[in-house]
Amino acid sequence: MAEPILSTRGLTRDFGPFRAVDEVSLSIRPGSITGLIGPNGAGKSTVFNLLTGVLKPTAGQVALNGQDVTGLLPDKLFALGLGRTFQIPRPFARMSVLENVMTAPLGQIGEGILGPFLHRARVREEEARIRARALEVLDFVTLAPLADHPAGNISGGQMKLLELARVLMGDPAVILLDEPAAGVNPTLTNILIEKIEELNRQGKTFLIIEHDMDFVMQHCDPVIALAEGRAVFEGTAEEAQANPVLLDAYLGV
Ligand code: ADP
Ligand code: MG
Repeated sequence: MAEPILSTRGLTRDFGPFRAVDEVSLSIRPGSITGLIGPNGAGKSTVFNLLTGVLKPTAGQVALNGQDVTGLLPDKLFALGLGRTFQIPRPFARMSVLENVMTAPLGQIGEGILGPFLHRARVREEEARIRARALEVLDFVTLAPLADHPAGNISGGQMKLLELARVLMGDPAVILLDEPAAGVNPTLTNILIEKIEELNRQGKTFLIIEHDMDFVMQHCDPVIALAEGRAVFEGTAEEAQANPVLLDAYLGV
């Protein structure tokens, strides 16, 4: 197998006495659309939080492109090419859709410690560049017509596309999506799938948490399953559907 683009070894996270993620070792193949499935409470979102630096592991390591990135903060990981969306998007409701995309963390000039010393014209130039890029990205996710709408007024599905737009501002090599299709109408789900596949053809790797088995069957390979904090399965989506261990996990047997 090719060197994994993202991997974990013995990744573990406790919340008090409760072990939410238990020695999970994953290898994500570059260029794949890998599905991460498992019943509610299995630890999927916690794994994402550990991969993206939102939470620190109790034990274990995370590597990106073979480099140990355990414990790095989300902004730093984003700068290194790891982007993610959240299960529940929380845009800045009163800011416009465009402004929400423009605030994606990019290590923007004008905000760092050098900011006060930079020429104003330089900052304006940088802002114009970020605006142009944000409009381009909004156009890609089909939200350009809503650029000036308050982000609080768009639908749940449009918020998921907005999240993807924010992620794409950083041009990440690896994109983690937490339940992108949950609560999204079929039209927007199809747009999202089309965009994921287009980005994947351009070489981006995806790790996607999804409950909708149709989505997983049609778009994810391989599939990794978690149950009670442990990785219990890796294989194709077809194998996942036929696997007794997984059926047990879902039925809580
Ligand atoms: P999934 O995304 O697979 O549904 P989560 O990763 O959200 O599962 O949660 C896994 C388990 O860890 C659940 O039992 C959940 O209640 C618990 N958990 C998650 N986050 C926290 C937290 N911040 N504090 C305490 N328990 C948590
Ligand atoms: Mg979750």
